[in-house]
Amino acid sequence: MSTISISSLFPFCRLKFVNSEEVELGIGSGKVIEFRPDQRFSPISAHCKTKGTSQHSKHQRFLRDLSLGPHKTLIHLNYRKIYCPHCGQVRVEELDIATPGGPRVTKRLATYIQQLCKLMPVKAVAEHLHLDWKTVKEVEKQGLQSEFGDTDYNGLRYLAVDEISYGKHHKSFY
Ligand SMILES: [Zn+2]
Repeated sequence: MSTISISSLFPFCRLKFVNSEEVELGIGSGKVIEFRPDQRFSPISAHCKTKGTSQHSKHQRFLRDLSLGPHKTLIHLNYRKIYCPHCGQVRVEELDIATPGGPRVTKRLATYIQQLCKLMPVKAVAEHLHLDWKTVKEVEKQGLQSEFGDTDYNGLRYLAVDEISYGKHHKSFY
């Protein structure tokens, strides 16, 4: 019997595949794929990319990932906090898979959500992916921020409004 390796579908840097199991997620059948830090790499700070001098603590987090066909996929992520000599404090280690402290989705699912949000309302995206709409909203907001950034109003002298509509029942100024 031949077996299909699924590890190539999860090419996450600095992480090592541990195992996968079938689970019932309440939103249909799912897979939980466990990863742990790859010991071949020294952990670096997600804040400043400096190599940590010592491990502070171990943590775990569950992140939704792109679905595998009909299976919803959940990543069981083991990660570390390290002492960063540059910041002089404990930082989460940098892992390519997700943004520390952000919504509980992988970066590649976040990209997919942001693409869908350009085509349909947040509620429809949430229903389609079986995600909480607040998660989808947060991911969309982060995407818009990284695409357009905060608007800089420094040095602004004029603000122009480009369309004004006057209809039948609108108050007349004449
Ligand atoms: Zn640092």
